[in-house]
Amino acid sequence: MHCPVCLRADSIPLLDLGEGPVFCNVQWPSRAQAIAAAKAPIRLAACASCGHVFNEAFDPDIVAYAPGYENSQHSSTVFSRYAERLVERLATAYGLSGCAIVDIGCGRGELLEALARRVGGRGYGFDPSYSGGDASADAAVHVVREEFDPERARQIRPALICCRHVLEHLHAPGDFLDGVREAMAASGDPVLYLEVPNGTHLLRNAMVWDVLYEHVSYFTARSLRLALRSSGFRIHALYEAFGGQFLCVEAAVGAPARARSGRRARASDPSPADAAGPMTERIERWKRWSSGERRSGRTAAIWGAGTKGVMFLNLLGLNSDRPIPRALDQNPAKDGLFIPCTGQQISLPSVDALAGLSSVILMNSIYSGEVEARLAGMNVAVELLAAD
Ligand SMILES: [Zn+2]
Repeated sequence: MHCPVCLRADSIPLLDLGEGPVFCNVQWPSRAQAIAAAKAPIRLAACASCGHVFNEAFDPDIVAYAPGYENSQHSSTVFSRYAERLVERLATAYGLSGCAIVDIGCGRGELLEALARRVGGRGYGFDPSYSGGDASADAAVHVVREEFDPERARQIRPALICCRHVLEHLHAPGDFLDGVREAMAASGDPVLYLEVPNGTHLLRNAMVWDVLYEHVSYFTARSLRLALRSSGFRIHALYEAFGGQFLCVEAAVGAPARARSGRRARASDPSPADAAGPMTERIERWKRWSSGERRSGRTAAIWGAGTKGVMFLNLLGLNSDRPIPRALDQNPAKDGLFIPCTGQQISLPSVDALAGLSSVILMNSIYSGEVEARLAGMNVAVELLAAD
């Protein structure tokens, strides 16, 4: 497979993680169905030319997003506050009062609704996995259960195109960005807000639980800048957010698209090759922990049944026996469902769900204050461990 960003076929193998679930964000109604969920190989490689990191074993034909894909994080107050600040920033920085907004990959449409409400404009979402109902003709937000369509976006003439956590899923991100630019060029002078998981954060901190089949790409600031400039965008701002876990870009239509060639790496860019060892070591460390817990008859649960939790359980090769028979998650839509491939049942955190546990493994430390407060509120004494 060629590099998704610079299109060169010159990659260096980085890390073979074996097989992982094709969909981390699809939970199953029975353990048998969960265990039978499809798997596919994850082999990370780094482009020798532009430094981009990607899954060279990715096959776009086996990934089709449909209703049932559940990745909302809005049940967390930490995430909700982040989303509120983002809405405020975009609304005030770009004078969007009364304007139309397009959100590509809008999920349930929570952010789009908040943006449309804040600016008093209309919101239009595209998401093939949207599971909400059809809006009435006079509703402020309309979501179509389809992939992004530049022609349709052009008719909407948005002042803002928002695209969170989509680009890393795409086999051909350049073609997608070309379409976004085309729709924007026909809409006056709109702004693009793009957000992806931060590949630099992943490489620097060996965040191996953030590697998942659905993500073809792990964008660093360097490869994201190259992808945008190659599709003819002018970057207003590129920054990290959410404790460094997200990489955000605000951009406008710039010079016509040009050849996809990368700048040379800076000394501050993380070397992808240096990350492979610490990622393997992290997996091995937790495997040793898990064997020790099993031998001593102790029981734990993960807190966070999102992608990190699913990959944690899968990369450790666990099943729903000890030491981790359960998963906890604050999203009510996941309550009672089962984790793909490893089969742990997911529950909302409660005194009953925590009964008999010696420890809880928090999948994302950014939520530690929130989770500690929940545990204290339930008066449950368990050891809280951090997987990151
Ligand atoms: Zn490349």
